[in-house]
Amino acid sequence: ELSKRLQNVAEFIPVTTRKFADIGSDHAYLPCYICENNKNTRAIAGEVNQGPHDAALRQVQSAGLQDRIEVRLGDGLGVISPNEVDCVTIAGMGGTLISNILTEQVENLSGVDRLVLQPNIDASSIRMFAKNFQWQIVNEKIFEDDGYIYEILVLEPQESLEKNLTEKEMYLGPILMREKNEAFYKKWEKVLDKKINIIEQMKNAKQIDEEKVAYFSKQTEWIKEEIH
Ligand code: SAM
Repeated sequence: ELSKRLQNVAEFIPVTTRKFADIGSDHAYLPCYICENNKNTRAIAGEVNQGPHDAALRQVQSAGLQDRIEVRLGDGLGVISPNEVDCVTIAGMGGTLISNILTEQVENLSGVDRLVLQPNIDASSIRMFAKNFQWQIVNEKIFEDDGYIYEILVLEPQESLEKNLTEKEMYLGPILMREKNEAFYKKWEKVLDKKINIIEQMKNAKQIDEEKVAYFSKQTEWIKEEIH
C-alpha cells in the first residue's frame, strides 16, 4: 500500500504522461504505483546510492515492470538526458536539496513540462528556484499524513511574464495561503509558536543578531496576518 504522502504526489502526475523520472526514488514505490495504474506510462527511477538503487531494482522486478521502469544509478538529473521525459518527480527530501538537484543540471529539464515536488521542509527554496529559472507554480497542496504535514508544489514552464510573488507568498505559498485548509492552519500555528520562542531566546542572547531578529519578526507577522 502506497503511503498517503506518495498517493498525493501521484495525483499530480498527468495520466497522459509518456515517461517520467522519479529522482531519489529509493524503493521505486512511486514509479511502480504509477506504471501499474497507467499502462501507457514509462518511468526512470534515479538513485545516487547503491542500497536504495538495489531496493528499487528488486521492487521493479517483483512487480514485473522491468520492461517499463528503468532503474538508473546516478546523481540527481544526471540520470536523464534533455528531452527524454515529460515529467520529473522529487519527493521526501528537504526543499533545499530538491532545488539544488534541479539547479545543478538544469539543462536536463529541457522538454520537461511538469515538475511535481514534495519537500519535507523548506518549500520556499523551491519557490525561489521557480522564480530564478522561469517556472510557474501551477498548483500547491498541503496535507497531513501520519502526524506529519507535507507540501507538494507543481511547476510548469512559465509561458508569459508572470507577476512576481511577494516575499510573503514565497514564504507561505501563493496557492496554499489562498485556500487555507486545516493542515495550513496546523502547520503555521506550530511554526508561529516556534518562531516566537526563538525570537525570545535571540533577544536574551549576549550578542543580539538584530538582522535575524527582524527577519524572524517579519515572518511571524506574515503568519499572524494569515491565521488569526
Ligand atoms: N522519493 C522517495 C519517497 O518520497 O519516499 C524516497 C525518499 S528518501 C528519504 C530520499 C532518497 O533520495 C534516498 O534514497 C537518497 O539516496 C536519494 N537521494 C539523495 N540525494 C540524491 C541525489 N542527489 N540524486 C539522487 N538521489 C538522491
